[in-house]
Amino acid sequence: MKALAAAFRYSRGVETEVQEELAAAVAELRAYLSWAEEGGPVMVSLPPTPTAISTPTPTSMPKLSIASLDGVRAEMGECVRCKLHKGRHNIVFGVGDPKARLMFVGEAPGEDEDLKGEPFVGKAGQLLTKMIEAMGLRRQDVYICNTVKCRPPNNRNPEPDELATCEPFLKGQLASVKPEVIVTLGKFAAQALLREQTPITRLRGQWREYEGIPVMPTFHPAYLLRSPQEKVKVWDDLQSVMGKLGLERKR
Ligand code: URA
Repeated sequence: MKALAAAFRYSRGVETEVQEELAAAVAELRAYLSWAEEGGPVMVSLPPTPTAISTPTPTSMPKLSIASLDGVRAEMGECVRCKLHKGRHNIVFGVGDPKARLMFVGEAPGEDEDLKGEPFVGKAGQLLTKMIEAMGLRRQDVYICNTVKCRPPNNRNPEPDELATCEPFLKGQLASVKPEVIVTLGKFAAQALLREQTPITRLRGQWREYEGIPVMPTFHPAYLLRSPQEKVKVWDDLQSVMGKLGLERKR
């Protein structure tokens, strides 16, 4: 009888565990669908069984003379160092928590960003905001910026001289915010930070490092708007980031 009771207790324990895992999987799916449903069909891969939450990785950043974001912005001034200044309405410096644990680095401002002076406020930006929220964060909890701070004409790709001229300011932002994790969005941000020419299709989802900080390269939200079937890969990348930051899945 005692053995039966023990077996019953054991099976209830297992049942609870399974229920908890199921609830976590459903929560994760719900978070994914909250941003992935927009703009086309959605691929769903069931999340892996939850694993232990890892502790944040310590970072080592060199001390730069410019210690604050305001200092970096002041140094930039009304920048005319490259040709992009000619067509801009506003410098799009960056937005978010100056001490964010997570930093997103995009490519370059588009028209909406140029007019507003804030990164990622157009269609791609709205998708990025949903992705951040699906991670259980708010836009103001992270820091968002771009590799170049002025809009390239007709949204063309930033050119090497423009990337090189703007790079010290991105470095200054990284040195000031000191995020625990960087997510690069799209090919340019990844290649600019990592200094490698590996195609983004191979880079994405692979942890890299920038000055001791873990970097997760992933696809650009603008690409996801055109290729919604790729969202499932980005969600995998964001989950990996959440694991690295010790962020809990939403219940
Ligand atoms: N795309 C980017 O890479 N950055 C923005 O700020 C907006 C769109």
